[in-house]
Amino acid sequence: MTPQATSPTAGTAAAQRREQAVRAAVEQGLAGPDAPIVALLDTTGIRAGAAALRAAFAAVTDAPVLHAFAVKACPLVPVLRLLRAEGLGAEVASPGELALAGAAGISPADTVLDSPAKTPAELREALALGIAVNADNPQELARLDALVASRDGHPGASAIGLRINPQLGAGSIDALSTATATSKFGVALLDDGAREWVVRAYAERPWLTRLHTHSGSQGVALALMAQGVRAAYELAEEINAAVGRQQVDTLDIGGGLPVNFGSDEETPTYAAYAQLLKEEVPGLFDGRYGLVTEFGRSLLAKHGTVLARVEYAKSSGGRPIAVTHAGVQIAARTVYAPASWPLRIEAYDAKGRPKPGPPVAQDIAGPACFAGDLLAENRPLPLLEQGDHAAVLDTGAYYFAHHYSYNSLARPGIYGFTATAEGVEFATVRSPQPIADLIAEAGGAQVDALL
Ligand SMILES: *Cc1c(COP(=O)(O)O)cnc(C)c1O
Repeated sequence: MTPQATSPTAGTAAAQRREQAVRAAVEQGLAGPDAPIVALLDTTGIRAGAAALRAAFAAVTDAPVLHAFAVKACPLVPVLRLLRAEGLGAEVASPGELALAGAAGISPADTVLDSPAKTPAELREALALGIAVNADNPQELARLDALVASRDGHPGASAIGLRINPQLGAGSIDALSTATATSKFGVALLDDGAREWVVRAYAERPWLTRLHTHSGSQGVALALMAQGVRAAYELAEEINAAVGRQQVDTLDIGGGLPVNFGSDEETPTYAAYAQLLKEEVPGLFDGRYGLVTEFGRSLLAKHGTVLARVEYAKSSGGRPIAVTHAGVQIAARTVYAPASWPLRIEAYDAKGRPKPGPPVAQDIAGPACFAGDLLAENRPLPLLEQGDHAAVLDTGAYYFAHHYSYNSLARPGIYGFTATAEGVEFATVRSPQPIADLIAEAGGAQVDALL
């Protein structure tokens, strides 16, 4: 048998770096019998993605653009710090995310607060820090009214906007469609009287200077996203005409660029989206409006890989099953909604080399104690054997950074890597979770509480 030199996806630079990193993780002992699951982040890829985002908008406008990374997509402080070094800010939606952005050194001026359920204390803190806030609804706007009034009528350094829902319809994944008629986000613009209410709300509040929409997500077509941005732009124009000045000076167009989970090709690109926006909403880029973007998944997804050891290889009812250490705890979406969230998997041998052999339909199972804990069913791959590794690709956003503590499975270590001709260097982003930590999280300090 002649081993294949490379995996079927090798060819792109990113795939080559990944292969190098998998091999090095095994050779350097990051992954092994005592560390049967690790997560790897391609630092070079993350940097390149951030640079591509900035270049895409710089190519269509001279206006100031803040690219605020949606922290929820990858809430890891070193990742936020890396993105800050690449010129990005942060979009946060909870006190925790705000704290992470602060810990990464992202300045208030580069931070945007967007949650749908902000408490009065969170709003007060945001204004005290000078963080931009997008109000979700009329009740939140009333809270901001009171805060601004208590500050002599000025919001201070905070830019304040209102989130609207253009109600354009759903994409292919209902749970991620933010712009449906009944979405929980923002002011539903097509509802009776809503548009007039919004225009009046701005006319009555000279400090309301931003308008926000986030209508894209995985499963939403670029054309629909562009329609959402156009709806926000047209509303801003209407508000500014009604008040007779450029009161809305910044449009926050959200994130939501979908990711290709089917291959190593990075499509659609930021450049394609920026070009489409320029065609569909030319006024957006003529210099009258500053811009904020809030991309999350598209900045990180393709730069993360989970490497899991095959603990056992078995067969059940004629179906080969690789029992690995990667399952629901790192891929909850894929395990619970496999049709919406298929993930690519590559087979590597015990030494971290691409596994040769003809494709055999097999299940890739996780370690959790429920039957549905499968990352892939009947997936044709070289037959995985005990001690081999399964690499789960495109998991840099909303996967291993979103641990689900089923079965008290510990959070895996996360390592950034740079892969060059000289070799692979790893940097610890997050250490593996110690068992003592699990006990503490489980109320270990209150062991007698219920006696
Ligand atoms: C989740 C979210 C984003 C990021 O969405 P992605 O699909 O990860 O790009 C941006 N803005 C808001 C308000 C969000 O809720």
